Amino acid sequence: MRSFIVLFLISNIMLAQSPEFNMEIYAEENDSTILILGNNAEFFPISVSLEVDLQGTRLKEKLPKYSVLEPKSKAILLAVILKPINESWSYRFAYNYSMGNALAVHNDDYAYQLPFPKGQSYRLTQGYNGKTTHRGLNALDFTMPEGEKITAAREGTVIRIKEDSNRGCPSANCANDGNFVTILHDDGTMADYVHLKQNGVLVELGDQIQAGQEIAINGATGWASGAHLHFVVYTTGKNAQESLKVKFESAPGNIELLKEGELYTAFK
Ligand SMILES: [Zn+2]
Repeated sequence: MRSFIVLFLISNIMLAQSPEFNMEIYAEENDSTILILGNNAEFFPISVSLEVDLQGTRLKEKLPKYSVLEPKSKAILLAVILKPINESWSYRFAYNYSMGNALAVHNDDYAYQLPFPKGQSYRLTQGYNGKTTHRGLNALDFTMPEGEKITAAREGTVIRIKEDSNRGCPSANCANDGNFVTILHDDGTMADYVHLKQNGVLVELGDQIQAGQEIAINGATGWASGAHLHFVVYTTGKNAQESLKVKFESAPGNIELLKEGELYTAFK
């Protein structure tokens, strides 16, 4: 057998686990290749953008801009690196990651439901790009009393929950204290329902929920000057989330962008 020099460079990042997410990116070596693989133990998809530094080795195929680790998936192949036969070689890799599917495209034809039970009327007190706290953000605030039920505006899967907070205040000091539910839609976009009451989440991680299903109880946790529901639909990117304007069926057959200041009544 021919001998060859192996320069096996292990970067710190290589075997590191994400500090935020229960995921890992790792390498598996065999005679002719090195496989870069990913595990995702979370309920949400994770988009990974891989960078490699190769000396004497080469990629079998060009890297995609993003690879998506589906929820609860293991050994997802991110890259195949080919080793030379009898030359020295090395490789290193690093990666960026974010919650969600960076390849998702919102279905703009979807008509969202008002996120409260049939017969209830609430005012949209802040709309898209609103002047109070929604500058540059496509989010909606419905003012509704604490304790009111919140329903899903669109069907999907429950991928993230926070309900342990009892703290709210009208400043950024409380920005991390808002309870929320995140729903993953079938087009890969996500929706956050925020400011929920403590222990006010009525669904479990991984639940498949229907539009109109009760999912939470309204509150005033987090950055809030009073009880209201903050609703936002978004996609993910390399460094940031992008919020989206979405249309609601505000009355039977009437599909529109909701207007700040209007009172809306759920009809289904
Ligand atoms: Zn808001």
